[in-house]
Amino acid sequence: MCLHPGHPENNPCPSCAIFDKSLPDGNPRHPDVLFLSPGEETHIAIDETRRFISELANAPLAGIRRVGIIDDAHTLTENAANSLLKTLEDPPEKTVLILVTHLPQSLLPTIRSRALSISFSTRSREEMEKILDESGEGRLSREERDMILLLSRGAPGQLRALLESPQRPNFGRIPRVLTVRQKTAPFDTDLLPFLSEPEGFSCLGDALESLLLDLYRLEACPEARTSMPVPPGLVDSVSHLKREEFHDRVQELRALAIYNINRSMAVEELLWDWNETLASGNDEPSKTA
Ligand SMILES: [Zn+2]
Repeated sequence: MCLHPGHPENNPCPSCAIFDKSLPDGNPRHPDVLFLSPGEETHIAIDETRRFISELANAPLAGIRRVGIIDDAHTLTENAANSLLKTLEDPPEKTVLILVTHLPQSLLPTIRSRALSISFSTRSREEMEKILDESGEGRLSREERDMILLLSRGAPGQLRALLESPQRPNFGRIPRVLTVRQKTAPFDTDLLPFLSEPEGFSCLGDALESLLLDLYRLEACPEARTSMPVPPGLVDSVSHLKREEFHDRVQELRALAIYNINRSMAVEELLWDWNETLASGNDEPSKTA
């Protein structure tokens, strides 16, 4: 966006000056940078996408090009994603379109094939622990800490957002719900309302997928480090077949969750399925037997 790349910092070009001015609240107000994101919604609808595309086609106002950024691009509905194809194939002159997502596999293949993929590396667990320690948040419980590290997926910005979330006390309660088998139905967990909100649903999906990965890891190496505390014996109490079926189900529901599905029913169904899976027993002879 810079008009004179390499200019001294204390003498910004008019374009860079706009970015400098918008720093305090973190959101650049550059007239040539357009954002599209789900905001408070679970998905990005076709109407907003069409508006975004038509605005993107205008000539640059301050700089020499326009940049359109679609955050959480995996939340585009199928129709919204399809409405982008033409623009991706043949973008307006002087326009750069950037799709941001942590779930690239959830983008339509037709979108992926028209885009250049650039991966950003995530921070290691050690680096994230250091950032967490330096955040001055000393009052975290062990469970809260583990979950915040797990849910932040190696992204420092996400870590800070989770620390500031009013839902923070609920994060640390997720592992218990997932690793201890419930004896009675329906669930006597008061976490259900939280898990049924978009934020909580996404936490549940992340926690479940991470736990499934941990179970694979523990099977290969019982000493493996896990993202959340896994009680002894849990690995053997889950059948391999059930575990894979369940993993597919989690991914399927996550993909559906961008539409207006009944999330609280989905959460109850997922937790109940998982509860059953927890007692499915191993279908292969145990190595230690
Ligand atoms: Zn500049």
